[in-house]
Amino acid sequence: MRTGTLSGTRLPSPGTEGRVPFRYCPRDGTLLLATRIDGRDRPACPVCGFADFMHVQIGANTVVERDGGVLLVRLNYGPRDGHWALPGGLMENDETPEEAARRETAEETGFEVAIDGLLATWGRAGFPLLVVIYRAHILSGDLRVAPDEASEAAFFAKNKVPPLEELAWPSTAHGIEAWRAYEPPRP
Ligand SMILES: [Zn+2]
Repeated sequence: MRTGTLSGTRLPSPGTEGRVPFRYCPRDGTLLLATRIDGRDRPACPVCGFADFMHVQIGANTVVERDGGVLLVRLNYGPRDGHWALPGGLMENDETPEEAARRETAEETGFEVAIDGLLATWGRAGFPLLVVIYRAHILSGDLRVAPDEASEAAFFAKNKVPPLEELAWPSTAHGIEAWRAYEPPRP
């Protein structure tokens, strides 16, 4: 990471980037100082060099196709209760995005899957989440939803996908759109 020049101690006010910036270093607790890095004043640690760029959580989803249909799970918790989502969830510190996608798919649907490739990504300015959507295929297992996460799961043909208002997240719609548009490379 490139080191900038100290340009003062005033930190950006809350909301500047759609969220409250760090005030203290998450590594060592030092008060951060506004520091010029890559053309912006960012809270940065004068001790260890930590700098507050955008920090995001990473969501990993799969598009699992069987007999021409895509696998969706119907959430039964939270603000999107009753809505349909691609299998997936947040990536943990000790796994790759592909491993997160496979783990979440197994937990939510009972299917062990193999990743075939990256289908799409979803992200928005000011929104601290990046969703990575993979194409995947079933290796083994039987459809079996996790009762604390989903009420049901099913495969939907391209012309039978639930309407937009029944989809859980913008990233769900984005992934389904990418799946519909996807054409496998010709040999
Ligand atoms: Zn530090």
